[in-house]
Parts: sequence; structure tokens; C-alpha cells
Amino acid sequence: MPDWINFDISKLDEQNIVKLIMHHNKCYWEMGMLEISDERYDELIRALEKINPDHSLVIAINAPKVASEGKVTHAKAMLSLDKAYSFEDIDSWAKKNKRSENELYLVEPKYDGISANYADNVLATRGNGEVGENISAKLPLIELETTGYTGPVDRPVRGEILIRNDDFKNIYSNITKKNGGTYKNSRNAVGGIMGLLDISDMQRQHAKLTLVDYEMISHPVKYFELEKRWPELVEKIENLPYPMDGIVIKLADEAYSEALGNTAHHPRGQIAFKFSGIRKESLLKEVQWSFGKNCLTPVAEIEPVEIGGVTIRHASLHNAQNIIDKDIQIGDRVIIERAGDVIPYIISALPGESRKNALIDTCPNCGKSLVRKGPELCCPNPDCSATRLKLLTAAVKNIGRDRLGEPNIQKMMTHLGVMTLKDIFDLKLSDILQLEGFKAKSATNLFKEIANARNVADYQVLAALNVPNVGANIAKKIMNEYTLDELRQMTDEEMENINTIGPERSRALHDQLAEQSGFINELTSALLIKQSKGQGNETLPTICFTGKCRKNVLFMKLWRNKTVTKRLPQ
Ligand SMILES: [Zn+2]
Repeated sequence: MPDWINFDISKLDEQNIVKLIMHHNKCYWEMGMLEISDERYDELIRALEKINPDHSLVIAINAPKVASEGKVTHAKAMLSLDKAYSFEDIDSWAKKNKRSENELYLVEPKYDGISANYADNVLATRGNGEVGENISAKLPLIELETTGYTGPVDRPVRGEILIRNDDFKNIYSNITKKNGGTYKNSRNAVGGIMGLLDISDMQRQHAKLTLVDYEMISHPVKYFELEKRWPELVEKIENLPYPMDGIVIKLADEAYSEALGNTAHHPRGQIAFKFSGIRKESLLKEVQWSFGKNCLTPVAEIEPVEIGGVTIRHASLHNAQNIIDKDIQIGDRVIIERAGDVIPYIISALPGESRKNALIDTCPNCGKSLVRKGPELCCPNPDCSATRLKLLTAAVKNIGRDRLGEPNIQKMMTHLGVMTLKDIFDLKLSDILQLEGFKAKSATNLFKEIANARNVADYQVLAALNVPNVGANIAKKIMNEYTLDELRQMTDEEMENINTIGPERSRALHDQLAEQSGFINELTSALLIKQSKGQGNETLPTICFTGKCRKNVLFMKLWRNKTVTKRLPQ
């Protein structure tokens, strides 16, 4: 794993963040590989959003990812708001539009969900502000909260679809996704559920979303008392039981606000104050090491602190090198930062009175001595079951089988002795039926899915190796000329003579073919690989080879010609 996966994102400038996001998008969408976790990817997006909230990447990713039944034109446009990052910003905005010291403003939460409008019995997303997506099919899951009423959505309303903090805690710990896993945070859950084409599984599990009326919580305040009351209003809003990422301030006089009109993107009569990077101090109690595909990731266990209305018990420490660089030890006072929905992380440490080394020498799972690989600590034991689970999960993702997530693979390893990808393909229907939580129908579906996953083209195997700049297209060109075996037997020099790729790519390809020889063997013994050489030019993959589809917006590009296109937002 390259060094640049774990590092302090806050040190990057806009250009480099954009480069990284583009790189990971490419890995993900063209090569079908996940190099970083969803959380880490979100962290990059949030960092970019902080620097340049109007960047096209931020806008594309923040656009709700919904399965829709068509377009809806809003009677009144739903524009996004201009942003403020300090009280000074708000004050100078208010100074521009107040007609007297008594000008009345409304201070409201800025909810962190999907904006929606319900009118004429149709529920629609904001979309581009003028035209949204019809998401009425999700209504059975949605409860409306408005002044004096909680219940089915039954009246015209403009608001935000989200999951209340208490619902997320109480309900969502028991709700499983198709792959058997649970949602990590409410933002992911809302996005995931809104992207489902079929909600029956969620209905069965009593999943609940809430549509909060924007007008329900609204604090009137006059200009002359705004500064004095601001801290109290922020605190009041921060403690509400909803996921939020800021505060909205708007002119109370709607007619006047509308008369001010809009800038190119935003209404002049409203502004959003963004919560960002809230820091608190706590005590580092312990460090837990969780397993990744190759290496161990340190997670700090801290004395619980409230940040932005959420109790934080764990914080990211990124990797072993980060712990060394920042001289973080157990018993230290640590500064935790939480920005948006990102996993909170430790930014610095003050030495505590009694300190204990936070690093470990041996694998907590198998006891083997750990080795350093770049900034990380890794277990070198190929049979270590914890590492095996991560590797297997990654391999399965690479062949596009989402349903077969980590929880299910864990079950297969524990109860059926599965160790390799081949073991998974050798499973019988009767084996899957033995697994907890599987009934005849779900077991049959999974069995069929595994069987289908078996057929891949050789260039997909090549692309799955994640060689820099060798995506599906290049891989296909190469595999039209050579078989996988021929490639594997080539010397460095011979590979340089492949005219589709330059010397840099050929060297990287040669190295990766050697380094990942075990993984390739595993794939070739488990899959039915179709040779491209001698088959003429074919079209691109017919199965989604990208593993989990993180961003539907991008996902769409891959499926441009499939029926799914209709159901996803532009
Ligand atoms: Zn181990």
C-alpha cells in the first residue's frame, strides 16, 4: 500500500486534494479497485469542500444519490445557500441587507441530509434547484416532522430527509444492508436507502427516515441582538437530535428577501454558517489495532467528549508513523477534531503524567511479530485469519460481488472453513443454508450470485491488480495481444516492447504481476477466465467489475447504456 494513503489531509492544498480525488475515482471506476476506505474518501471530499465549496467535484458528490421515478420541475427554485465560516461573515452579510437595527432574522439548523419538496402528492429532491428527481416511492419509509405534527407525509412541505440521531442509534444498529453489514453513519444510511430501487427489504426491517420541515425549528432574532445571542443560538441548535452541518440565517420578511433576488447560485436573503473543524480535548485511554487488507490501523479509544452534539469515544490515528511523528502515547491529553461526518481524528497530543507506548510489536490476532511497511505496521503471516478476511473481502469486491460483504465472509470463514476465493466458489447451496440469517430464497440468490461472479474476462483480472494507469481499457488492449500466462512469463525487457504502454507502465505492470502472483493464482484457480486474445474487439465489461458502487453519480457513467441510467440522477 503506497505511503500516500495515510497522511494529514489538512496539509494539502486544493490542487493536490483534487488530484487525489480524481485518482481514487479513476481507481474505483476504471480499475475497479478500492485503495482507500469510504471514510477516507469522504475526508478528502470534506477537505475540498472546506477550501472550495463550489468545486464541481463537491457539487457532483453532494448531489443526492437517489433511485428516481423521473424528473420534477419545482414551482419555486430550491437554490443552495452562500456560506459563512465565522460570525464576522454573518454580520457583514446582515449589514448589507438590514433596513434597520430591528430587522428580523430567522436562525435555523442546516440539516445534513437530502433536501426535498413535497407538493401535489409528489416528493422530489432538490436536484439542480430547478428540476429534481421524483422519489415518491420512498414515502412509505418517511415520517414528516413539522410544527405540531409527526406522521405520514400528508401536506405540502419543504425540508430535509435525514435520520434522527436517536433513530440511528436505536433502529439502525439492527438494520442490515444486502451485504449483511450495517450502516456506519446516518449520512451513509440516508444515501444508501435513497439509492435503493426496491425498499421492501428496508420496510421489512422497519427502517425509518424523517422529513424535517425547514420551518419547524426557527429562532427569530433582531439585528441589534444577533451578536449577543449568537453563541446561545449555536448551542441550542447544536444540541438538536438531527445530523446537521451548520446553521441557516435568513431574513424573516419573505417578500423583502425575494425582492433582493439571487446571485448566480444563491439567494441573497439567506446564508449558511458551516460547522467545521470543531476541536475538543480528551484523554487517550487505549489504542486498538484494527485489521486492514494488508496492515493494522490504530484507533484511539478516548474519554468520551461531546463534539457538535455527538458523543465521541473513538478517534482515528491514521497509522503507526503518525503516532511516532506526533509522539502520541497512551495517557496523553489529545486534541480531537471533528469536521462534518468524518471520523474524528487526533491532531495533537500533550504528554500525560504516566505514559505508555501506543505501538505494538506482535499481531493481536495471531501473535506473529509485526513488520513495518512504509508508515504502517503489518502482520506478515499469510495465514493470519484477520488479514485473510480482509484480503478475501477485497478480492470479492474486485469481482463485483457486493452481497458477499465482510460479515458474510466472516461467517463463511468461521462456520465453513473458507480460506480462499476458490473456497467460496466451491460452496454448495446447502453450505450457504447453514449460515446464520440465510433462508432458502436469500441463500439461492447468493449462490447464484457467486456462480455468476465466476465468469470474467482476462482483462478484468489484469485491471484488478491496480497497476497505476492500467485501467480496464488499457488492460483490454494488452489482453487482445497476449494471454495472461504469456504476460506473466515476460521479462522486464519483453514487456517494454508492448507498444500500447510506455516504459513506466510496463515496469509497474511487470512488478505487480510478480508481486501479486499469489493473488493472480487465487483468481485463476477460482474464476472461469475468458481469454481475449484472438477474440476480436469486444465491448467493455458486461458485469459491474467495480465492487461497491460508492457514488451513483459516477456509477452512472459506467452504466450509460444500461436501463439503470434512467433511475439515477443526472
Ligand atoms: Zn496476524
